[in-house]
Amino acid sequence: MSKRIVIIGAGLAGTTAARELNARGQAVTLIDPKAGETSERPPLSKHLFDGSRHHLPYHLDSTEHITFVRDRAEEITLAEEAATSRYTAETQRHPGPLADHHATAGTVHLASGESIDFTHCILATGMEANRPQIPNYPDALPVYDLSDAEWVLDRVERATSTLNVGVLGSGFLGIEVATSAVAAGHEATVYLRGDEPLRKQLSEPVRHALFEAHKAAGVRFVAHTSSPDDIPADIHDLFITSVGATPRVIPIDGDTPASAWKVDESLATSHPGIFAAGDCATVTAGPYALDHPWACEPVAESHGKFLAELLADAPAEAPADAGETPTDAGANVPDGGANATDSETESTETSARIWSEVPWHWSFQGPEKVFTAGLISPDATDTIIRRDPSGAKFQVFHFDGADPEAKLIGVETFNWPPMQAAARRVLGGNNIPTRAQLDDPDFDFKAHSRL
Ligand SMILES: Cc1cc2nc3c(=O)[nH]c(=O)nc-3n(C[C@H](O)[C@H](O)[C@H](O)COP(=O)(O)OP(=O)(O)OC[C@H]3O[C@@H](n4cnc5c(N)ncnc54)[C@H](O)[C@@H]3O)c2cc1C
Repeated sequence: MSKRIVIIGAGLAGTTAARELNARGQAVTLIDPKAGETSERPPLSKHLFDGSRHHLPYHLDSTEHITFVRDRAEEITLAEEAATSRYTAETQRHPGPLADHHATAGTVHLASGESIDFTHCILATGMEANRPQIPNYPDALPVYDLSDAEWVLDRVERATSTLNVGVLGSGFLGIEVATSAVAAGHEATVYLRGDEPLRKQLSEPVRHALFEAHKAAGVRFVAHTSSPDDIPADIHDLFITSVGATPRVIPIDGDTPASAWKVDESLATSHPGIFAAGDCATVTAGPYALDHPWACEPVAESHGKFLAELLADAPAEAPADAGETPTDAGANVPDGGANATDSETESTETSARIWSEVPWHWSFQGPEKVFTAGLISPDATDTIIRRDPSGAKFQVFHFDGADPEAKLIGVETFNWPPMQAAARRVLGGNNIPTRAQLDDPDFDFKAHSRL
C-alpha cells in the first residue's frame, strides 16, 4: 500500500511541507478551508499603514502530487476507531477507500461530513488570536487574519486625516502595529499591563532600547492598564487588540490537548503516524525544546521542511504502537538506510532525525529591527553585550551557564542584520564560542562565524 500523507492547515508549516513533499514526488492532501489561497501573516502587523504590500500569497498550486481539500478538519479518529467511515473527499487522486485498512493510522473527519484516511498526518493548524472586548471600542479587533487586517486596511485607506490608533497589548504584534502606524504619520497609543513593552519576549537591554526608540518616535505608552474597561472612550479612531493567541487543536479519538500539541524531537505526537508543526506544536525534546510553541515564521518553515524529509523517507505502513510518550514516538519513522539492519537503521536514523535547525525570529518595529537566534531568555541577567563602534547597534549573548567555559546558546541582535546572520551561522555550526571568548573585546564574532 502506498503512503497517504494528509496535512491539516495550509499556513506556512503546512504549505512548506506540501511543497517539499511534492518536490520529492510524494502525493499529499492538504486540508484547509483556504487551501491554495493562504498568505503570509507577518505583513499584516507591519504594512497596514504604509501602503506597501500586506498580502503575500504562498503561491502553492494543486499539482499532480498535491490535492487541495477546501474544508475544515473537525476531528481525527485513530485506525481502530475509524473502521466504519472509510471513503474519501479527494475524488481526483484517491477515489475510494484504502485497500488495506490495517495499514492506515487514522481518519480525518471534515466539516462537510466526508473523511480522509491517512498513513501519516501533519497537524499544522496554527493559532487563533485572543479577542478581548474593549467596551469603549466595540469594533476593536486583532490583525491576525487577512480578513481582519483588510477591514483595518479599509479604514486606513478611507481616512482623510491622521488616525489616532489605540493598541491593547505590548508583545511583538502590538508594538509592530503601533510603530508602523507612527512611522506612517499616524498617532498610536499602546496600553500595556506592566510598565514596559516586550517584557516576555526580549531581554532587558534589547527591550529597553526598543522602548526608548519607540517613545522618541512618538508612540505613547499607557502602563498598568489591567483591564480593557480602563481604556478611555472617544480618543481612538481605530483600535487593535494584540493580547496573545491560542493554538488551534482538534480532538484525536475524543482527546483534545489543553494547549498546543506536545511533540518529541522528531515533531511526532504521542499518536502513531501523527506529527505537528509550526504554531500548534510545542517541541518538548531535542536541542530546541520549549514549554510553549516557538510561534515564529522561520520555525514554521523549518518544521515543514523537516517533516517533509522525514515522511518522504518513512515506510508506507503507519507506525504500529499507540500510546507512546512523545519522546518515544519519533522512533516510528525510520528512513531506509542502505546497508544497515532494520534495528541499526532505526536507532541510527532516529538520532539523525531530530529537528535541530537553529530557530530564529525577526520583528520589524517601524524603523527598528530586532532578531533572536537560538535560545534566549527575557529574564537573563548574566549575558554579554557587544556593540558596534557607534554603540547604536548591539548583540546580547546568552549562555548555558555563568562560568567562562559556558557555551553560547542564543543571541539577540538589535538593528544589526549582518550580525544576526553571523549569529545564525555560529549557532548552527560546530565552532560555538565560549563565554570567555565572547568576553574578549578582541574576539571577532563575524570572522569566527565564517570558520
Ligand atoms: C500578524 C502576524 C505577524 C507576524 N510576524 C512575524 C514576524 O515578524 N516574524 C516571525 O518570525 N513570525 C511572525 N509571525 C508568526 C508567523 O506568522 C507564524 O509563526 C506562522 O505563520 C505559523 O505558521 P503555521 O503554519 O504554524 O500557522 P498558520 O500560518 O497560522 O496557518 C494555520 C492554517 O491552518 C488552518 N486551519 C486551522 N484549523 C484548521 C482545521 N481545523 N482544518 C483545516 N485547516 C485549519 C488555518 O486556516 C491556517 O491557514 C506573525 C504572525 C502574525 C499573526
